[in-house]
Amino acid sequence: MLRPSLECPCDGSFLSPDFTYEEAPLGETKFDLAGQGYQRSYERCSLCLHWFGRHNLDLTGLYAGDYASATYGDRMGTVFDRIVGLPPENSDNAGRRNRLVEFARHWLGTSPEITLLDVGSGLGVFPYAMRLAGWSCTALDPDPLACEHIAAKAGVASIAADFLEVDPLALGSFDVVTLNKVIEHVEEPCEMLRKASFVTSSRGFVYVEVPDGDMAAVEGPDREEFFIEHHHVFSVASLGLALERSGLRPISIERLREPSGKYTLVSFAASHPLSSQAGNK
Ligand SMILES: [Zn+2]
Repeated sequence: MLRPSLECPCDGSFLSPDFTYEEAPLGETKFDLAGQGYQRSYERCSLCLHWFGRHNLDLTGLYAGDYASATYGDRMGTVFDRIVGLPPENSDNAGRRNRLVEFARHWLGTSPEITLLDVGSGLGVFPYAMRLAGWSCTALDPDPLACEHIAAKAGVASIAADFLEVDPLALGSFDVVTLNKVIEHVEEPCEMLRKASFVTSSRGFVYVEVPDGDMAAVEGPDREEFFIEHHHVFSVASLGLALERSGLRPISIERLREPSGKYTLVSFAASHPLSSQAGNK
């Protein structure tokens, strides 16, 4: 049984079974379950409204470091081109780029060159867009093939590593650290957020996107927000709690319906007391 580190204030006293699955929902990535039967569920906290994924399936192959290349295979370049070529109004990534550019203008002011660490870059379409926006970008992903693809195709420096394992002092510090649809995939999201805070410069901020469980649940348990890869599905409240517990100060949490149809929560958070930021202005 998973022991996620996102403990809620009720210490598990208010968890109750919510969704149960006897077979994979339509569209879920097929993982080799090595003969294990498909059985999983989410428990939900009735105070912070967070969903905790529960199953005994061995998914160790899932994040052995080849998620992007296992998902896309030799189509990484083709899929990259397709996403980059989407018209802005149809592109989740274009919306993300615009949010970051606008917020950074407000938060960082006129900065000569904004440094970005993107954690869990996948195909690299996001750091590619930020490079074109003039930012100095570094992509980090556990998948070495994805990193090769990012360096060659997106022209972005890439580090093949597990963010939770990498030495933060070796990484250095960045004005902006982004975690786009990443922390719901790990068992210990707060550890990942704490590390993101650590590698964010004192004037900088962290940007987090997670699936919006509140909105997705209205349409039912088979939506992609509740696919097996998601150990955690966040509510507005539980995302705020996770950020606070990780030493980050939420500046905003917003609900989005993205052009792809995904329900998403997006948050900007400071890595230092908000009062000192106000004092810097
Ligand atoms: Zn709770």
